[in-house]
Amino acid sequence: LSDRLDSAFHILKGRNKITEINIAESVKEIRRALVDADVSYKIAKQFTDTVKEKALGSDVLVSLKPGQLMTKIVRDEMASLMGGEAADFKIEGKPAVVLMSGLQGSGKTTFSAKLANYLKTKKTRKPLLVACDVYRPAAIDQLHVLGEQIGVDVFSNKESKDPVEISKAAIAHAKANGHNLVIIDTAGRLAIDEEMMREIKAVHTAVEPNETLFVVDSMTGQDAVNTAKAFNDVLDYDGVILTKLDGDTRGGAALTIKAVVDKPIKFVGTGEKMDALDVFHPSRMADRILGMGDVVSLVERAQEQFDEEKARDMQKKIAKNQFGFDDFLDQIQQIKKMGNMKDLMGMIPGMGKMMRNIDIDDDAFKHIEAMIHSMTPEERTNPSVINGSRRKRIARGAGRDITEVNKLLKQFADMSKMMKMMQSQGGKRNMMNMMR
Ligand code: GDP
Ligand code: MG
Repeated sequence: LSDRLDSAFHILKGRNKITEINIAESVKEIRRALVDADVSYKIAKQFTDTVKEKALGSDVLVSLKPGQLMTKIVRDEMASLMGGEAADFKIEGKPAVVLMSGLQGSGKTTFSAKLANYLKTKKTRKPLLVACDVYRPAAIDQLHVLGEQIGVDVFSNKESKDPVEISKAAIAHAKANGHNLVIIDTAGRLAIDEEMMREIKAVHTAVEPNETLFVVDSMTGQDAVNTAKAFNDVLDYDGVILTKLDGDTRGGAALTIKAVVDKPIKFVGTGEKMDALDVFHPSRMADRILGMGDVVSLVERAQEQFDEEKARDMQKKIAKNQFGFDDFLDQIQQIKKMGNMKDLMGMIPGMGKMMRNIDIDDDAFKHIEAMIHSMTPEERTNPSVINGSRRKRIARGAGRDITEVNKLLKQFADMSKMMKMMQSQGGKRNMMNMMR
C-alpha cells in the first residue's frame, strides 16, 4: 500500500501548486491503492472524496509542496477514519468481565493472556483467565501455560461442555477469591457459523460483560471486515483487537473496520510474546500504513517554523516585482533554521526549482551567502546592474570563482522569471488558490 501511495504522491511531486486536475489524478491513484489493500470501494471512495475536498479547500501553507500537503491530509484523514483518539477501556466492576469473541486462530487466547498481563501490571488488577473453549482441550492447556507464564490464575473445567456454565462458575470463583477482573476466552470456528454465534451470544447474555471485544487477525484482509460485521450484528461489541500486526499486514482491515462497524480499535497485537501488546493509536497506525512517518513530521516541523505572515509578505514582494537578493538571503536563513538541508529543500516557494540544480549541502549555502554578502545593497535589490566588472569584484570578495557568481545570477534570474510567470493570469489564479 505504501508503495502505491508513494506513486500517488509522486504525481504531485515537483508541482508548485495544487490544482483541481492534479488532485483528481492523485486521488484516483490513492483510491486504487486503498482498494488493492482490501479497503472496500465504498469506504475508499468516501475517504478520497474527503481528502479531495480538504485538499482543495485547505488553507494551504504557501511554503509546502502539494505532495507533502496531500500526505498530511491523507494521514490525518486516515487517523480520523480509524477513530481519532485512543479509546478507553471499562474495567470497573466487582468483578469486571471482559469477553473475547472472534474466529479460531484470530489470537483470542494469546490476547486474553496479554491483556491479563497488561492490566495486572499497568492497572494493578487481579485478573482471572477463563478457558471456555469446550471443543479443543489443547486450547485449555494453552491458556494454563500462558497463565503460568505471566503469573495469573486460570479457571477451567474440562468436564463441562457448556460455556455458559463455565463462565458463571468462573465469576463465582473470582468473587470468592478476590479477583476483580474476569477475562473469558471463548472458542471460535474457522468461519462464521450459526452454532458459534448462538454460543457466544448465550455467554454474552449470561455474564453481561463490561467489555465485549472482537479479536481479528489483521492479515485476513477484506474477510476481516465481513467477520467484524457478522459478530457485531450479534454481539454489538465494544471494541476491536487487531492481532498479528507484526506480520506483513496490508493495513486495509484497520482502515475499514472502524468505518463499517463504527467500533473503536482498542489494542493491537504485535507478536507472540506476552508483552507484544500496544494500545491502539490511530495516528501511529496511519503513519504505519503510509510508511512515511518522517515525511509527516517534516511537514509538521515546516509548519511550526515557517512564518506564514512572512510568506505572505514575500508573495506581495513577488507581486510587485521587488524580490531581491536580500529576500533570497532571508529565505536561506529560514531554511537553515529548519534543520537538515537536503530533507527540507523545496519547501520554500520558488526555491525548489532553483535549488534542484545545486548540490545542496551546508557548504553550498555558505558559498551562496558569501557571494550575496559581497554584493552592495543596490546590487541586491536590483541585480540587473551587476555587470562584468561587478561580477569579478563579487567573486573576489567571496573567494569564489566567477563562474559560480554567473551561475548564481543565472539561477536567480530564472527564478525571477518564474515568479513573474506566476503573476500572469492563470498563475495568479493558482497562487490565490494556494494562499486561500
Ligand atoms: P485463537 O484460536 O483465537 O485463540 O488464537 P490463538 O491465540 O491460539 O493464536 C493463534 C496463533 O496466532 C498462535 O500461534 C499465536 O501464537 C499467534 N498469534 C496470536 N497473536 C499474535 C500476534 O499478535 N502476532 C503474531 N505474530 N502471532 C500471534
Ligand atoms: Mg483459543
